[in-house]
Formats: sequence, C-alpha cells, structure tokens
Amino acid sequence: MKHRGRCYCGDIEFEFKEPIHAQILCHCRECRYLSGGEPNASIVISENTFMVISGELKTFARSDLNEPRVRYFCGNCGTHICVKSPPRPGMLVLKIGTLDDHSWFQPQSAIYCVDKQPFHQIPKGLPSFEKTPPPK
Ligand SMILES: [Zn+2]
Ligand SMILES: [Zn+2]
Repeated sequence: MKHRGRCYCGDIEFEFKEPIHAQILCHCRECRYLSGGEPNASIVISENTFMVISGELKTFARSDLNEPRVRYFCGNCGTHICVKSPPRPGMLVLKIGTLDDHSWFQPQSAIYCVDKQPFHQIPKGLPSFEKTPPPK
C-alpha cells in the first residue's frame, strides 16, 4: 500500500510504500524540539520506498555529535518530514503528522521514556522502554 504526505506549505510532496516496520512514540529530548513538546509520533519505513514527488528536502545534521541523525525538512516552511538514524541503516523515521491520512496510526511502543516529562501520558497498556526495545 502507498501513502502520501506533504509539508505545511505544500512545496514538498512525497510518497512511500509499506511495509511499516514500527510505529513509535518517542519521548527523547531531541524529539521534543521537533514535536513542540509532546512525544514524537513516528513510523519506521524502508528508505528505498520513499520518494519525493515535488520540491527538494533540505537536510540538517549536528556537527558536534559523532553519529548525528540526518534530519530532512522543508526549507520554505520548516516542516520536519523524516530522519535518517545511524542505528537504523536503510530505514527512515517519518513523522506521521505529515501524512495526508494518519488516522490509522497505532503506536506499538513508547521509547526513550528515560526523558519522559511529568505531563506526558503513555497510553495504557503500551509497552514502554527506557531507551529502545532490545533487538529481536
Ligand atoms: Zn513547506
Ligand atoms: Zn526521539
């Protein structure tokens, strides 16, 4: 199945295909800068199914970190679309709020709960992890 999305101003349009490898709520400090404060609702997809249909994504990576995440965003409106994370080679972590339809999103885990803030509510019954789930 194919999914489509865009940035806030519409300059960037993209699509990707399933499979969706994971659906996560990330509570880490870095994500809070990007989400506005709440946990970051994201999915993990295969990088090779992701295609930009219009516009050109800008990238940012912190120069003060050894293995920085590479962040992809719209240079016009600043919407953060996805991240390439060194611990997940071949994958992209995509913010679900950029998808035309993201009503289907169902988080499977709450991660980086070590950084969770008192006002964050983890949905009842959702597996939660200090950092990330142990590798399968
Ligand atoms: Zn934009
Ligand atoms: Zn995070």
